[in-house]
Amino acid sequence: RAKKEITSWYDYYEPDMEEKTTWRLGMIRQLRVDFGERILQVWFQPQVDLVSEKVVGLEALLRWPSKDGGFISPAIFVPFAEYSGLIIDIGDWVLDESCRHLKMLHNNGFAHLRVAVNISIPQFRNPGFVASVKNAIERHGIKPHFLELEITESVVMDEPQIVVDALKELKQYGVTIAIDDFGTGFSSMNYLHKLPLDRLKVDRSFVEEVLVSKTAFIAETIVTLGNKLGLKTIAEGVEEREQASHMLKLGCDEAQGYLFAKPMPYDDLVTFLEAEKKA
Ligand code: C2E
Ligand code: MG
Ligand code: MG
Ligand code: MG
Repeated sequence: RAKKEITSWYDYYEPDMEEKTTWRLGMIRQLRVDFGERILQVWFQPQVDLVSEKVVGLEALLRWPSKDGGFISPAIFVPFAEYSGLIIDIGDWVLDESCRHLKMLHNNGFAHLRVAVNISIPQFRNPGFVASVKNAIERHGIKPHFLELEITESVVMDEPQIVVDALKELKQYGVTIAIDDFGTGFSSMNYLHKLPLDRLKVDRSFVEEVLVSKTAFIAETIVTLGNKLGLKTIAEGVEEREQASHMLKLGCDEAQGYLFAKPMPYDDLVTFLEAEKKA
């Protein structure tokens, strides 16, 4: 097998490929080092009920600080973490951090909040996945239904049986499941009744529609579909007041977006939640 890869390697060679490969390997190496040195962070973005506009949940989002004082976007580095397998250790850590911080919130007057964690395909392929989710929950002593797992349609399409089995077991245990970026994948729709889903996240691209055209057919169709399937719906990437009121009118339950709050570190989140409580 190795031999075949070496011969075919030359066939795929492009002038700038070596440079790209070096860059990618460098990124993976740096990610491994920085993860080991505890440089990565988990931030939290509030999710609000669209009627009360009060925070009901949080989404945990990875942050990788870079040397220039900024952050490398997870949209860029998560695919490399997946490709290299690093996402398994990083993902376990995100689960642990999320449960740990949720427990602190529960102990500090915010006992109603849930936390959602994004899960990638390689995590499902890892035979220890279900156990590591349960471990994170048990280690921090939260009730399973306060943890939500977010999966994308691509996860469902790629490896249905592994995914279905793991989700069924976790669902039975009490964890809730959300479909992320709904409508952006190659959705075959038939997974919708095979999976034990609780929530459907309407992708930002459809929520944006409302500012472009008053009709916003797709957002409306997705919310209707969710409602008919008995799922809760949440609008992603709500930036404008008008988007929030439109999604509410369509029957969408919750929203997440810059209009309400950006992702933030735990300490800022506590300040934010305290302020909301006093208001
Ligand atoms: P996602 O799961 O769809 O997360 C939502 C993304 O939308 C986040 O980007 C969030 O910061 C951004 N967002 C929220 N509200 C708004 C808004 O009003 N306007 C705009 N323009 N954007 C908004 P972020 O944090 O850069 O994460 C990007 C993606 O990286 C995530 O998309 C998710 O697919 C992945 N990711 C992040 N953290 C993790 C993780 O711990 N594990 C895995 N497997 N993937 C992760
Ligand atoms: Mg997500
Ligand atoms: Mg999303
Ligand atoms: Mg999205």
